[in-house]
Amino acid sequence: MLAARYYGIGQVRVEDIPAPVCGPGQALIRVAYAGICGSDLHIFRKGMFVTSIPETMGHEFSGVVEQVGEGVTEVSPGDHVVGDPRVSCGSCRWCGEGSYNLCPGLGFIGEVMPGCFAEYLVLDAKKLLKIPDTVDLRRAAMVEPLAVALHIAGRGRFSEAEHLGVVGAGPIGLLTVIAAKAMSVKRVTVTDISPDRLALAGKLGATALQAFPAEQDDQPNVVVEAVGLEAALAGALGWLRPRGRLVMAGLYEEKTLIDPNDIVVKELELAGVDAYETDDLRKAVELLAEGALDVDCAITHVLPLKSAASAFDLLTSADKKACKILLAP
Ligand SMILES: [Zn+2]
Ligand SMILES: [Zn+2]
Repeated sequence: MLAARYYGIGQVRVEDIPAPVCGPGQALIRVAYAGICGSDLHIFRKGMFVTSIPETMGHEFSGVVEQVGEGVTEVSPGDHVVGDPRVSCGSCRWCGEGSYNLCPGLGFIGEVMPGCFAEYLVLDAKKLLKIPDTVDLRRAAMVEPLAVALHIAGRGRFSEAEHLGVVGAGPIGLLTVIAAKAMSVKRVTVTDISPDRLALAGKLGATALQAFPAEQDDQPNVVVEAVGLEAALAGALGWLRPRGRLVMAGLYEEKTLIDPNDIVVKELELAGVDAYETDDLRKAVELLAEGALDVDCAITHVLPLKSAASAFDLLTSADKKACKILLAP
């Protein structure tokens, strides 16, 4: 089968490798669509997260169950599925409580075990969530990043009365806007340096700004930082109104310098966000099954798996025209 494998910084190769075989308790999935995530870009640019080379990348997917191993009752061949790509230790206190995203050993498929940028994928059947056949598989591939946005909404305690600021109109920023609109958040303002991405935010009903506003009379009370750069974090801290909440959803490639007094003097609250809880994934599936959310807006490209390397070039180019790219094996 074809698979897009990581070979080191800046190197993704599409190769023919043996298809995986499913063992007891596992399912073999034919991947329909697989999304390239910001964390895949951290791997590509900086070599973060991956524990051995080469590794088949990717953790966001939709697909169809092709075969099940012994003892599997959760899914059957032909079922449309998405997956929980988190790989946790299974024995710590947090895993015991079901908060796998807080496991100190948390990893993901595509980082610590083979991922979904391939024609086939094997996963524990317990990690699969069934999707009704009425949900387009393209849209279903957005369940995982949508779960991140729902987790952001929870950690940020979004409510109708807020003015929400979003820093970064990438996939997570845009899905956060979509989640906020679905929750009737009163006002949403998005900043990004890319006019193309800002146009997408505008389409979703957000006020789109290419820079942080200078005036201090219309500050958001919640700001989601979905970039992971020093300027974005400093801008977010400056933008928030006093006693506002900062939700940190971007992952940083570099050590970052901020002035902690920006937090102290405005009495800000901080909430980190790492992935999602199982309930966020379930909720994302439900919302898509209801047809409640238009997540298609964030998908700018669907490319064949064999074009994986050029998809990474598109996403790491300076003009940031692309947003969510789905690979279609
Ligand atoms: Zn992701
Ligand atoms: Zn654990």
